[in-house]
Amino acid sequence: MSIADALRVSPGAETNAVAGRAAVLSSSGGSFSIEEITLQKPRGDEILVKVAGVGVCHTDVVCRDGFPMPMPVVLGHEGAGVVEAVGAGVTRIKPGDHVILSFDSCGACPNCARSAPSYCYNFMPANFGAVRMADGSTPMNAADGHPINARFFGQSSFATHLIARERNAVPVPADAPLEILGPLGCGIQTGAGSILNSLKVGRGDAVAIFGAGAVGLSGVMAARIAEAAHIVVIEPNPSRRDMALEFGATAVIDPKAVEDVVAAVKAAGPGGVSHALDTTGIPAVIGGAFQCLLPNGMLGLVGMPPPDAAFPANIMDMLVRGVGVKAFVEGDSDPEIFIPQLVKYHLEGKLPFDRLIRRYSLDQINEAFEDTISGRAIKPVLIL
Ligand SMILES: [Zn+2]
Ligand SMILES: [Zn+2]
Repeated sequence: MSIADALRVSPGAETNAVAGRAAVLSSSGGSFSIEEITLQKPRGDEILVKVAGVGVCHTDVVCRDGFPMPMPVVLGHEGAGVVEAVGAGVTRIKPGDHVILSFDSCGACPNCARSAPSYCYNFMPANFGAVRMADGSTPMNAADGHPINARFFGQSSFATHLIARERNAVPVPADAPLEILGPLGCGIQTGAGSILNSLKVGRGDAVAIFGAGAVGLSGVMAARIAEAAHIVVIEPNPSRRDMALEFGATAVIDPKAVEDVVAAVKAAGPGGVSHALDTTGIPAVIGGAFQCLLPNGMLGLVGMPPPDAAFPANIMDMLVRGVGVKAFVEGDSDPEIFIPQLVKYHLEGKLPFDRLIRRYSLDQINEAFEDTISGRAIKPVLIL
């Protein structure tokens, strides 16, 4: 151990509350190694959670493979579990509560104040900093005492235990299937929220959804909940097109089998669509989605584009039809309000997101990531 490393060793092992295991990432583009860790006791507004299950989201892949992260780090941002202890300042949550962890936000900026925490002015440091915003510290240590950055999305849930904040934890009923609920905190919330909260799709509307991964298929389920008249799904994978039909799509299009995707979408809807959602991030697909819009239509963007991609549309074309485009973060959700609604839809059978899930153990995390990238799994969930 170098002197610099020795100085980083955290003092005060007596403050450690719990020992567990976590999937630790030590270098960008590397693989995860399962390591023994300790977590400190929860501070003022923090809670200690024993993880029941955690989803793998595309953002985890991006952060493993190149997005700048402070190493070593524990990723994971679709956790669900049981609260084991709470800090002195926690008022809403108590030990024994079942919670879904969602994204973190500052709670003090204008957008947090107006119940739009996904547009928190401090969203980047709160979620991608992987340390406590207040003082840059982390609640996790390796067996030898080295700090491990473990506040990714306010949770770092690829672990048996985590420290979150009361602010990014949402209590859920004890009769809901806790181990698979984590994806409601990000991927499913993003798909369903984009349709219900952001685009505000309503009865009789025509919607096109580009890409039928976990986000797109959640959007299909939500469009059916909204009673859209036309739900058109564009997806090259045949089994995903079949799922889209089962979840409520009124038409599916294989973009590789038709000459003109825009014409096919217009034919499947009433001459176009009032709302479109792109989950692919592919510039050519986004350009096509934009052309499918009826006058006064709106296109929402949630897919991760190449870093240097520009928006592929003509401004005059936008002006004459009066159409709009907006990037949506986390489906415009206020998790405290929207996640209980999603749980209710699921328990009523209207949001069968469980059918998207493939189960893995924590030890199989590297396999789960490969299956996310290859498309073999729509929504991997690590069951603890
Ligand atoms: Zn904020
Ligand atoms: Zn996510």
